[in-house]
Amino acid sequence: MQEAIDYYGGMKLSPNSSCPCHSGKKYKQCCQPYHKGILPSNALRLMRSRYSAFALNLSDYIMATTHPNNSDYTEDKEQWKQSILNFSLNTRFLGLIINEFVEGENEAFVTFEAVLDSSILKEKSRFLKEERKWLYESGDFSPATL
Ligand SMILES: [Zn+2]
Repeated sequence: MQEAIDYYGGMKLSPNSSCPCHSGKKYKQCCQPYHKGILPSNALRLMRSRYSAFALNLSDYIMATTHPNNSDYTEDKEQWKQSILNFSLNTRFLGLIINEFVEGENEAFVTFEAVLDSSILKEKSRFLKEERKWLYESGDFSPATL
């Protein structure tokens, strides 16, 4: 695994590979446009693109799509980046199950289960829209060991 990883630019993935968010679509037809700067039109797309960004070690994308209210948010980008990479490089992102998506005009909730190698992370995430951009604001999680 290690040799496939570029620590500075994230993991290399062919645009024709299946998307790491487990949508069943090709990466180029799913999350890649968002990772390249297109704004996701809804919070569910943002959520999926953040999951695949974790899988691809795209720490800059994670930071750029986190709301300043979030408890992980810090101006110390170097330290934040390290903690994201520490998680993403040591975790395998095996599946994503969306249980519920509730969308409002400027606030949305996604309830999902992220299947990781060590556990299934169940989370209800809250997203807020700020200046046309959906951002991850907070999450209630209940980690369950496999
Ligand atoms: Zn995707």
